[in-house]
Amino acid sequence: MKKIQMQNPIVEMDGDEMTRVVWPMIKDILLKPFVELKTEYYDLHIKNRDDTDDKVTLAAAAAMKVHKVGVKNATITPNAARVQEYDLKKMWKSPNGTIRAILDGTVFRQPIIVKNVRPFVRNWQKPIIIGRHAYGDVYKNAEIFVDTPGKAELVFTDDKGNETRKEIASFDGSSTGVLQGMHNLTASITSFAKSCFEYALDQKVDLWFSSKDTISKIYDHHFMDVFADLYEKDYQQKFAAAGIEYRYFLIDGAIAKIMQCKGGLLWACKNYDGDVMSDMLASSYGSLAMMSSVLVSPYGYFLYDAAHGTVQDLYYQHLKGEEVSINSTALIFAWSGALGKRGEMDGNKELVRFAKKLEKATVSTIEAGLMTGELAMFATPKPEKIVTGEEFLQEIGKRLKSLLDA
Ligand code: NAP
Ligand code: MG
Repeated sequence: MKKIQMQNPIVEMDGDEMTRVVWPMIKDILLKPFVELKTEYYDLHIKNRDDTDDKVTLAAAAAMKVHKVGVKNATITPNAARVQEYDLKKMWKSPNGTIRAILDGTVFRQPIIVKNVRPFVRNWQKPIIIGRHAYGDVYKNAEIFVDTPGKAELVFTDDKGNETRKEIASFDGSSTGVLQGMHNLTASITSFAKSCFEYALDQKVDLWFSSKDTISKIYDHHFMDVFADLYEKDYQQKFAAAGIEYRYFLIDGAIAKIMQCKGGLLWACKNYDGDVMSDMLASSYGSLAMMSSVLVSPYGYFLYDAAHGTVQDLYYQHLKGEEVSINSTALIFAWSGALGKRGEMDGNKELVRFAKKLEKATVSTIEAGLMTGELAMFATPKPEKIVTGEEFLQEIGKRLKSLLDA
């Protein structure tokens, strides 16, 4: 078979731990035999980020502005334990946070549905898509540990030197404490709202947006207003014509409603809410590895990744020489998403077709009862055999070959 050619490269960002172990296996077993893979490789391994003072992350984000399409592996966001484990110079920021801050945009996460794993929430008959705002808030914050008495204020100094001040808290010295300051931009919130309205129209699903405007009367209230204004101005009629609805909920109310709904909607979440809710959603469909994820930037950049992390516990087992059962479904969908988008942008129909078949081969492998341990627990009927991470890829490879030959 002649390999599929690519006109332009995609930005490839490698990562850490167990997902780093399977990354080259995905390429060797599922991509390179069929596609003349063109990528610009950036190594976001924690040690390389440390060695380059995190410049490699900035370089990868800059490359996204050139090539527009990228695929990212899961990366460690260092905490104190990781700083010790890898002997790091400092507690580097989350690479996802850094990249999202540069590219702006919205992360859309959608469960990858297979027939033999039913969601835990019985009434969810259709997928719930999460649209996660990917800019600002706690991911681009400033924090202070307070260990001495004093007063904390929020201060804004305008370009002319005028100050606006608000007291946050007084610390009387009887206890240490913590402080946090964060921000967002109306332009970013507007583009978040716009991409959610557009995505809902495209998928013909209702759109819900949630925040905590009753408590956060300026910050969250602003998000709510931006959504409401944009809806009234540009989307009300389009939504009515498409037979879909836009609704605003308080975040706690939204969660209660989500548990009782039938699915088939896009839930627009603020950055932190989207982070935690997408993991809740993914695991309710059987596994964190059964969720696709893409960052859609308002400037037309698309970065595909997996919603899960580096699967640390399996990595330690792997280091002991054990065969581990890592589920690479989300990582495969990250590659298929990026290759499909590359094909779409370059008018490369063969590449688009390949991407679709790669997804089909992955889903059909699981539906044939060949799956990894974490997913097998929730499958009906129970699979006869749990496959290792590598066996899973080999099985997908077989099916992919016959789909491409057909
Ligand atoms: P995680 O790597 O997503 O793993 C959480 C648990 O989910 C695992 O212990 C495993 O559960 C299960 N799991 C997730 N993905 C799986 C897969 N592909 N196959 C099989 N099981 C899977 O999250 P974490 O343990 O909280 O974080 C580990 C590291 O990842 C951290 O250093 C964190 O900073 C980083 N992280 C990176 C990203 C990213 O770059 N996108 C996102 C989140 C976290 P069991 O084995 O217990 O069943
Ligand atoms: Mg997360």
